[in-house]
Amino acid sequence: MDVEIRVPHRGIVVGLMIGALTGGLANVWGMHPGPPPQPEPWLKALVHYLLEPLGRIFLNLLLMTVVPLVFTSLVVGVGRLGGLDRLGQLGVRTLIYFLLTTTCAVCIGLGLVQLVQPGRMLDDTIVSQLQAVYGRQEAVRPAEFGIQQIVQMVPRNPLQAAVEMNMLAIIVFALLFGIGLQRVSLSRRQMLTTVLEAIADVMVAIIGLALWLAPLGVFALIFSTVAQFGFSLLVALGVYVGVVLVGLAVQLLVVFPLLIYFLGRRSPGRFFLQIRLVLLTAFSTSSSNATLPASLRTAQTDLGISPPVAGFVLPLGATMNMNGTALFEGVTVLFLAQVAGVELSWLQQVLVLILCVVTAIGAAGVPGGSIPLLAMVLAAVHVSPDYLFLILGVDRLLDMCRTTVNVTGDLIAAVYVQRFVPALDSISQALPQADIDRSGSGALMPSANDATD
Ligand code: ASP
Repeated sequence: MDVEIRVPHRGIVVGLMIGALTGGLANVWGMHPGPPPQPEPWLKALVHYLLEPLGRIFLNLLLMTVVPLVFTSLVVGVGRLGGLDRLGQLGVRTLIYFLLTTTCAVCIGLGLVQLVQPGRMLDDTIVSQLQAVYGRQEAVRPAEFGIQQIVQMVPRNPLQAAVEMNMLAIIVFALLFGIGLQRVSLSRRQMLTTVLEAIADVMVAIIGLALWLAPLGVFALIFSTVAQFGFSLLVALGVYVGVVLVGLAVQLLVVFPLLIYFLGRRSPGRFFLQIRLVLLTAFSTSSSNATLPASLRTAQTDLGISPPVAGFVLPLGATMNMNGTALFEGVTVLFLAQVAGVELSWLQQVLVLILCVVTAIGAAGVPGGSIPLLAMVLAAVHVSPDYLFLILGVDRLLDMCRTTVNVTGDLIAAVYVQRFVPALDSISQALPQADIDRSGSGALMPSANDATD
């Protein structure tokens, strides 16, 4: 990457804190306690006409770069990783890592929710109050996940997949494109790689511009959430929220450090320090996709991961590896089954585990991306998806936290896979078009940099 972007770290933290603080005050002064709670006209106007649009614009600025960035970085990554054999080995390693860590996360969630049983503690009056507020919303329609969805992962029309932001289909096309690229003549391959890298750099430049708006965007997103939902719901659903947060904390602060240490052979403390911008971005945007640009940049500049590995693992991870989401889904399904009085057999719980892993792969990396899939898991174990109304009010907060776990898992996967990329010499043979940065940690510096300089 030859584009330098300056990230307003401090501004983002300040935006986050002021947003939470003023949002809390606005909730106290500007919301009539219901049921259902109604905002005062001034608060409604402020959120509806100013802050929500501002937050959306910030998110859109990040999201507009995602399709081109995923496509270009995957194609270039695949092209540079070498032949199908090597790609297959790294791909299998990456997928096994994704599956095992996601399964581990769901097990933590299911274990905790069985231990604490938060669904049995919920007060009946609170349930009816929540029903008054959220019950009127149109019930969440379960997403479908069957053979048809698997077929659609192979896009008939890649442009349509891009327009619909169907990330799994885009990934399949990009992987095939990268494999195809290795089969054309060297001169064409070099030319196309240079162009694709340049497009990726332009996207990074756009992100750099968007980040100027980050403090304001983060402020707007957090203010709108806190002002409308306040903290009272959190208290009502406290035990459930607590179980999700403890589960996420175990994954983030116990499982991940072990993985970083044993699989990545790095110091966990240093790792977390290096990825702090990614954590902040994920927390404030609640979107793995919107965080992808920051992850790619941090992986290469701070973690010393080579561009091919970052470009291969991170876009896959942003779409398929969602440890936090899977954990959240497991807790939520069992919690709602408890509320609904549905007893789940062991076999059904195993089904929940499998479905949580599968749906976390299928969930879109956008705010609330897992909710329609969660509805599907509920339906599969005969709990009405309408019960989701119970948690919709607190979902934003949980989403911020689970997305942070999701993207951290992706970066650890990249650190792990990096260890298996063969020594510099064999890479340089496979990549006649790449220069090797011998002064640094062995990161590959695309020769496109020279060409464009
Ligand atoms: N917001 C999550 C993400 O982007 C997806 C979800 O759990 O809703 O990673």
